[in-house]
Amino acid sequence: MNITKNTASDRLTFWEKLYLPEIAKGMALTFKTMFEPKFTRSYPEEKMTPSPSFRGRPVLVVEETGGRCVACGLCSRVCPALAIEVQPGPIDAEKERMPKVFEINMLRCIFCGFCEEVCPEEAIVMSKDYELVFTSQEDAILPKEKLTVPIAQLQDRLEWLRQYR
Ligand code: SF4
Ligand code: SF4
Repeated sequence: MNITKNTASDRLTFWEKLYLPEIAKGMALTFKTMFEPKFTRSYPEEKMTPSPSFRGRPVLVVEETGGRCVACGLCSRVCPALAIEVQPGPIDAEKERMPKVFEINMLRCIFCGFCEEVCPEEAIVMSKDYELVFTSQEDAILPKEKLTVPIAQLQDRLEWLRQYR
């Protein structure tokens, strides 16, 4: 039995075999696209302004009276990446317990937002900060001092949480 196989070249028309019309079509598409509106951003010159629903790096909320965190450890328990370490300090007679150590390893964080969801004090929230650059593994472990953000800068996230949670 004589079986003849059609190659890809056999299936092409005469004009397709010439390639030139196809190249002209490709160039026409390229020029047309050049004048269409752009959907890309020239980062880092053009920064993105995230919406309140955006999940950037988790931060600790600080009010005028101090931090909200009471070192209950729920965020650390729920974190699927084991990125949070909380060590409670002594109980404050005035208020409640404060964390002695609060660290987030940003190399582990997967921005899931579970810590924010579980926190009973609205003390940890996902910020709009998406610019994370570290020069060493140690730098990526953010201590309490680098995690605290004044409540005034987190108002839209807190309002969004109250609306949709
Ligand atoms: S966002 Fe998710 S992974 Fe990151 S610290 Fe919170 S719970 Fe852990
Ligand atoms: S951030 Fe919230 S969940 Fe985590 S230890 Fe503090 S109070 Fe508890």
